[in-house]
Amino acid sequence: LYSASRTITSTLDRDEVLQHIAQSMAVALECSSALILDYQAETKLAQVLTVYRVGTARNANEALPSPGNALQLDQLPLVLESIASQRPLILRAADPTTPQAELLWLQQRRIQSALMIPLVAQGELIGVALVIEGRRDRSFTSNEVFKAQTLASQASVALRQSLLFNEVLELEKVKSEMIRMASHDLRNPLNNILGYIELVNMTLDPAQQTPEIEEYMGSLRRSAKTMQSLIDDLLTLERVESERESEWQEFDLSGLVYEVTESEQSSAFLRNIHLALAREVDHAPVFGSMTQLRQAISNLIGNAVKYTPDGGQVEVQFAREGQRLQFSVKDTGYGISPERQTRLFERFYRAREPGTDHIPGTGLGLSLVKTVIERHGGQVWYESEVGVGSTFGFWLPAAQPAGVQGAALM
Ligand code: ADP
Repeated sequence: LYSASRTITSTLDRDEVLQHIAQSMAVALECSSALILDYQAETKLAQVLTVYRVGTARNANEALPSPGNALQLDQLPLVLESIASQRPLILRAADPTTPQAELLWLQQRRIQSALMIPLVAQGELIGVALVIEGRRDRSFTSNEVFKAQTLASQASVALRQSLLFNEVLELEKVKSEMIRMASHDLRNPLNNILGYIELVNMTLDPAQQTPEIEEYMGSLRRSAKTMQSLIDDLLTLERVESERESEWQEFDLSGLVYEVTESEQSSAFLRNIHLALAREVDHAPVFGSMTQLRQAISNLIGNAVKYTPDGGQVEVQFAREGQRLQFSVKDTGYGISPERQTRLFERFYRAREPGTDHIPGTGLGLSLVKTVIERHGGQVWYESEVGVGSTFGFWLPAAQPAGVQGAALM
């Protein structure tokens, strides 16, 4: 039972799950074959999803339906009743009490004995398993029925999970497509708006530039820019989530940390923030996506600068500890209170500590950092205290030299 249930739950692919269920049941009950059917209560139609015949049951002569075939069950009252009450049913051609309709069905298919188990997940019928013996008459002991029921309940959970998993995959695809389409379609009109805001600003007669008009134009510009960053962040997140690992390569993370820190210097300088870098290693190979890690590091350093009042300090540290590459960025900023810290990595979450209301953002940056780092086999961490500052960091596994990897594989 243990190994059968392990087999059933070893995959999320629906067809494989079904094949494993049928195989486990036939083997566990030493029967010649097993079928898994999908059942529609309204039409009373059962559609064959999987057929499994035990390799050694060559002399079994049952006429099994093929996957895709539909069985009309409205002529089989006993079968319908068992499905409705979600209870197992034993059918034997040699049993004189077997009703005529069911007997005919068994004979047509040259089945000697069959055990039918409804597959039920969370009280809902999601299919039917049929274990068949076509070589000889046999009865099923209560122990065997119990065994089949145990497998059926695990199989139902596995099947339900694989169905949900497929639904999630489908939804995920639809969502990605929608985000991509909406973002692309929004980009052009938004750029248009931003362009015209600047044009109006330039063509406005200085004599007409009242403080109100200046405020209205500023507000328009800020709103349009917020929408622009939202679209950019959504697209980046989407790109990261759909990028294939086959495009990954080995590169120097230490160099990337240097490059990103340098590119953040201008915004730190404008706000009189001292941005320093302390690197303990000049070369630190990592295996992954340079674009994604650049974005993650840039988000963390960018946040440290953004959430630190003018004149503060930001220190980036990069080191190697054994097989781990450690990155952190410490600031003397506003900090985050403990009750808001737990939600930091959720999409669209913004902590909104007092004093940070004027800082623009989308709440997508940290969620991207977490996705990227975890995809690369690492972990993010943070420490923060209101009014003192925050440290955000992550570790990543260092890329193994080719020789070491080869040795590990052997
Ligand atoms: P945002 O676009 O709002 O900056 P993030 O996902 O990057 O979104 O960050 C989520 C929230 O976490 C921010 O809105 C901010 O409240 C908080 N946060 C992130 N980094 C820091 C930091 N270094 N110091 C203080 N608060 C931070």
